[in-house]
Order: sequence, then structure tokens, then C-alpha cells
Amino acid sequence: MLQACHERAPSLDVTEALASLDAAPQATRSRYLNHLEREPSLVIATRWLAGETLSDAAAQPRVMAALEQASAPLKRYRCAACGFEASQHFWQCPGCQSWDSFPARRVEEL
Ligand SMILES: [Zn+2]
Repeated sequence: MLQACHERAPSLDVTEALASLDAAPQATRSRYLNHLEREPSLVIATRWLAGETLSDAAAQPRVMAALEQASAPLKRYRCAACGFEASQHFWQCPGCQSWDSFPARRVEEL
């Protein structure tokens, strides 16, 4: 069912859910590449890159930290009514009290 949902419209949450079910790391990396072919995503590119070894190994922790920091705000959900952003999805916005105003998509996908 998740795979069918992903085929219709790839999303960060569905890709991450499917990745959590992958038995082998290589399958997860392949899944991330498949996502990137369909939808450009800094969040997914960062996940994929985490499994790579850079030629300059000493620089890798700094590069990964910078990418994680840059992509963190893109993982939030945003209220369509007031713009309040949160790392979790809300049915009622804590900012403006609107019901069902959070699209089920991350900020990067809006
Ligand atoms: Zn709101």
C-alpha cells in the first residue's frame, strides 16, 4: 500500500516509511536515488549522502552537519492559515487554532 502511494505521489514521509522497512542498506540507498529521480529533495539527498564516503574523510562530519542543518527546516510541517511551522503534524494548529490547516506534506514539498 505504501509502495502504491509512493508511485502515485512520492513524498518524504512515504519514502522514509518505506526505507525503514528495507532489509538492506543498499535497498534504502536505491530507494533514495529513485526518489531523487522523481523529485529533487535536499532532505533525501542528505540521507543518501550519509551513506557515502567522501574522498576527504576529515571533511565528512562537517559537510554532513552542514547539510543536516540546512535540510532540518525543510522537514517541518507548515500551517496553511498562519505559517506556523512544527516538526510534527497537527490537526489543530497551535499557532492560530485552525483545524486541519496543516497539509500532510513537509515544507520542502510545498
Ligand atoms: Zn495556524
